[in-house]
Amino acid sequence: SAQSRLTDLSADELAAFRAEQQTAYDTLAGSGLKLDLTRGKPSAAQLDLSNGLLDLPKGVHDASGTDTRNYGGLQGISELRQIFAELLWVEPAQLVAGGNSSLTMMKDTLVDLMLFGGVDSPGPWSAQEKVRFICPVPGYDRHHTLLDSLGIEMLAVPMNDDGPDVDAVAALVKDDPTVNGMWIVPTYANPAGAVCSQEVAAALVAMPTAAPDFKILWDNAYALHHLTADEVKSADILSLASAAGHPHRPILFASTSKITFAGAGVAFLAASTEQVAWYLKHLGEGAIGPDKVNQLRHAQFFGDADGVRAHMARHREIIAPKFAEVQRILTDRLGGTGVATWTDPKGGYFVSLDVVPGTAARVVQLAKDAGIALTPAGASFPYGVDPQDTNIRLAPTFPALPEVTAAMEAVATCVLLAAAEKLSS
Ligand code: PMP
Repeated sequence: SAQSRLTDLSADELAAFRAEQQTAYDTLAGSGLKLDLTRGKPSAAQLDLSNGLLDLPKGVHDASGTDTRNYGGLQGISELRQIFAELLWVEPAQLVAGGNSSLTMMKDTLVDLMLFGGVDSPGPWSAQEKVRFICPVPGYDRHHTLLDSLGIEMLAVPMNDDGPDVDAVAALVKDDPTVNGMWIVPTYANPAGAVCSQEVAAALVAMPTAAPDFKILWDNAYALHHLTADEVKSADILSLASAAGHPHRPILFASTSKITFAGAGVAFLAASTEQVAWYLKHLGEGAIGPDKVNQLRHAQFFGDADGVRAHMARHREIIAPKFAEVQRILTDRLGGTGVATWTDPKGGYFVSLDVVPGTAARVVQLAKDAGIALTPAGASFPYGVDPQDTNIRLAPTFPALPEVTAAMEAVATCVLLAAAEKLSS
């Protein structure tokens, strides 16, 4: 890019640059924009890909002859579990197909661990003086909200390009039995798009932990959500954990929220056989069975695992151009200025943008005042506090392409203005 580094400018040049950005911003703010890059939602065009579901199921009986309209079948219907077991590299017997939200399954799991303890716990977590959880940052805001709501204390570790920082995690879990677990979004992580390598996954399931029942909540929400032809395969966490002698350490979650309908998909949980039985036992104390009609129509809609893969390719056709547009504008407007770095994810739903430390909140405020909603600064960090005030999560899937363009041009202007303000202060 032709831009020069802002830090190389003389005081006069910087003042001129700042005035230029202020003018650009004032024009922007006066143009009546109303754009939203906040949440990772599928667009209507993506939802339309799954409209075939609205005419299904054909018939009401599953492959075993069960009437899906009736109660029962807590673990979910087997033909759908077979399809997703193949895609998630687990055994069908170790997979639960549930309701429409994997986040609810995560909440149930944590609540059960708190109230009852797990298959390898000495007692309920809530009987401990303290319960703590490791959160790779930046991470998924709702993971943090959930922990906070249960009084679980959060410990941040860096999320690297190949997964959580193993040394930082190992140091926290080694001697402290109140560190009971950790989150990982292993594939195309929210928000930076990192993919947890086989080596990192293997180290995390093998590391010694003071807590005998340490849990890795392996939230594979974007397992199949590739943006390029290079379709990364998630580490096979259940097999790795068994091989390392800690079969009950990981609990895997996934869903079709960003495959079919975000509000009416099917969620999945996978774990060791004993741990699946533990989950189903507690689930059965408050449920008789999932929405098997929805599960049946999903199984019929996809047919098999390749049907899911082909469907994901159609999502990619819709959203890859939006991600490319984000890269194009960031590179054009901010490349070479030295005031921002950003990720170029190969999948998932987000781009993570780092601006001049101490300006992320200012950028979000400037954008808001100009009519562009961005995820609040700090949202990807425990307690909503980014200690560096540097990170902004961008979610380009929901708006139409021209709106992505307009919103990103505006974001670039806000980043430059905030940087100029900061550097001249
Ligand atoms: N996990 C991650 C990492 C997510 O980004 C999201 C959606 N934003 C979810 C879980 C929510 O999953 P579900 O719709 O299955 O509850």
